[in-house]
Amino acid sequence: MFVSTQIPDLNSWRSRPIVQQPEWEDRSELDAVTAELAGQPPLVFAGECDQLKDRLAAVALGEAFVLQGGDCAETFDGSGADAVRNKIKTLLQMAAVLTYAGSVPVVKIGRMAGQFAKPRSKPTEVRDGVELPAYRGDMVNGFEFTPESRRNDPQRLLRAYYSAATTLNLTRAFTQGGYADLRQVHAWNQDFVAGSPAGRRYEQLAGEIERALSFMRACGADPAEFSGVEFYSSHEALILDYEHALTRVDSRTGRPYDVSAHFLWIGERTRQLEGAHIDFMRKIQNPIGVKLGPTTSPDDALALIEALNPDHEPGRLTFITRMGAGKIREGLPPLVEKVAQSGAPVAWICDPMHGNTFEAESGYKTRAFDDVVDEVAGFFEVHRALGTHPGGLHMEFTGDDVTECVGGGHEITEHDLHHRYETYCDPRLNRQQSLDLAFMVAEMYGA
Ligand code: PEP
Ligand code: MN
Repeated sequence: MFVSTQIPDLNSWRSRPIVQQPEWEDRSELDAVTAELAGQPPLVFAGECDQLKDRLAAVALGEAFVLQGGDCAETFDGSGADAVRNKIKTLLQMAAVLTYAGSVPVVKIGRMAGQFAKPRSKPTEVRDGVELPAYRGDMVNGFEFTPESRRNDPQRLLRAYYSAATTLNLTRAFTQGGYADLRQVHAWNQDFVAGSPAGRRYEQLAGEIERALSFMRACGADPAEFSGVEFYSSHEALILDYEHALTRVDSRTGRPYDVSAHFLWIGERTRQLEGAHIDFMRKIQNPIGVKLGPTTSPDDALALIEALNPDHEPGRLTFITRMGAGKIREGLPPLVEKVAQSGAPVAWICDPMHGNTFEAESGYKTRAFDDVVDEVAGFFEVHRALGTHPGGLHMEFTGDDVTECVGGGHEITEHDLHHRYETYCDPRLNRQQSLDLAFMVAEMYGA
């Protein structure tokens, strides 16, 4: 059979209105960098993206649950082996809790290996009367508050690529090279168990998993699925010069994939229907997500489906809702109802972080663990009431014991925030809070 494959125009986004892009001083330097990026090997393979699409199709059907998470903003300096391992370890522990206690397959997606660019509410930042360009993520400029560091530097796009490559390499080693073997279920907890209630609770569950594994082995069953995990990468597709330079036409299918990550999403601030981001994302074949905030109307949701998944391909489109704990119970039902009526296969994921940010009196941007849990509970209530599937969680977390969100097992207060407030952007759940959340979600899932 002759299959005609017409490659879509991958440059059409350039003639659309575009927001949240850095001004590059020297266009020729940007062109040289993007040309170099375009000649680099892919970070992920098209076949892997297709596999994730299959997994997300199962999520849309109600047969699996997504755990997607990592830093708000990854940094070049923060992408060392320990930080990456701790994030993976935390996600593996959360997945073990959900798989065992919630009896559901978990699709694991890191907000990792490419999450280097941030949309900003203001283009500049003022400190002590000094105004400088806002930090837009390590892919664009530096966090340090100096004119030199805040200058947009195209060379950073290359560093982002190489940093994503090393993180992904480490991730593949951790998840396929024995570390993620389910027999390590206790080992992931070793540095954690003594001082922490969530750690002790996990230890008990790990004991049960270990007994189940021993039983299966004694029966002669030792499936390959136990010795490693599928782990996918994702980030917000924000800086389109970068994403475009990393788009390749797949030789098997003749179709373009953005090979900077398996899964890409469009943020709340860049999802204008006629805008450049939607235009670019409709051309690539990856599974994609769109963030939906509290002002989204049901017609907006339908128009996004029409723009991004007109053929209703299962697994292609995920809606990541981020309403806020106080709004989800009213804001989510009309969207879910209308989308369900349309028959479009959509995976619904809850981001309980971005609608719940506030500034503490001390000036730190924070989130309350109770609000996060409340939004997740609302998400489950809405989907249960409508007979749709609460398909997953999108979180900002770290594997380290930071003090950025208040509440949780260790009862971090606003006065504790300064102890270890290390994020360059939004506040993240620490390891204890992440595990606490996983136990709660497993209960909601099983309910
Ligand atoms: C984010 O995920 O860090 C983010 C900026 O989210 P949103 O687009 O939902 O505001
Ligand atoms: Mn964020």
